[in-house]
Amino acid sequence: MIFRQLFDEASSTYTYLLADSGTREAVLIDPVFEQENREVALIHELGLKLRYTIDTHCHADHVTGSWLIAQATGCRIGIAAAVGAQNVDVEFSHGDTIPFGSHHLEVRATPGHTNGCLTYVLDDRSMAFTGDALLIRSCGRTDFQQGDAGMLFESITTQILALPDNCLLYPAHDYSGRTVSTVAEEKAYNPRIGGGASKADFTGYMDAMQLPHPRKTDIALPANMVSGKPEQPPARPDWAPVRMTFAGVPEVDPDWVAANRDKVHLLDVRGPEETVIGEKGIPQAQAVPLGELRDRVSEIPRDKPVVTFCRSGRRSAMAVSILQDAGLDKAANISGGYLRWRNEGLPLE
Ligand code: FE
Repeated sequence: MIFRQLFDEASSTYTYLLADSGTREAVLIDPVFEQENREVALIHELGLKLRYTIDTHCHADHVTGSWLIAQATGCRIGIAAAVGAQNVDVEFSHGDTIPFGSHHLEVRATPGHTNGCLTYVLDDRSMAFTGDALLIRSCGRTDFQQGDAGMLFESITTQILALPDNCLLYPAHDYSGRTVSTVAEEKAYNPRIGGGASKADFTGYMDAMQLPHPRKTDIALPANMVSGKPEQPPARPDWAPVRMTFAGVPEVDPDWVAANRDKVHLLDVRGPEETVIGEKGIPQAQAVPLGELRDRVSEIPRDKPVVTFCRSGRRSAMAVSILQDAGLDKAANISGGYLRWRNEGLPLE
């Protein structure tokens, strides 16, 4: 199985990608709106077919990326039926299963932080994605959004801590850099519910907490009730079908560049030693070696978007960031560089 844990720094949210390494079918748990490009790039680069984007609950602290991810990948959007959100393709209830390849997630209702909180458990019970029901050495708040401390105690003890002791627990958030826990650890050390705490111990602790209102609630709750579908689609580069890589580099495919050569300025950042005399090159390219680009950036015309390339497309990715630093924001790298251009049989001169 393929497993990735991703992090959104602004909201301290973890997003999880699980995939069957054979069939490449995948599930994404709790994507963040602002990280859509990153997650879609990773899914693309790993060659995965995303089946579902699912949320553990209706988040109050960030907007889900589900709708954007579904638009980009064609996957289905899932969340608990109890949430009642719009733009949802599959509404989950306790006991449902979410298949991906030869694997599946088991849906467990774990209300208490909200009434629509779900924990997703991997088929072999080696991993559970607990949302905000159980956090590492902590748990979700129960003082708003239908929160109920007594209900959360029942959910955690009967649905999460009842899993095998070595089951890895992956929460929706951590604010202290912790990434994973286990059932055994939380049973022993969770300061709210571990060490044999009773329901009265737990509810007493929770009721005594004084927490500030989450920062983004007023935006996040209504946005999440429509699965993160924005009123205005987010701004995208309009000059080319630009794709962000997981490394954060804007790229365009060579065949698009070949078909739209008059619309872009081509910049060749290969060094002079690489230009084999007599070897054909990509047509009409301005040659500025990468090592000279910072000093010579004023020589790059600003009337057209700039598309960069080098031999393999690695150094030209750096060229894009130099151009962006110089204020040329319509810049992208040719994916795969000169080698891919040549291999695809695109015109050379
Ligand atoms: Fe939450």
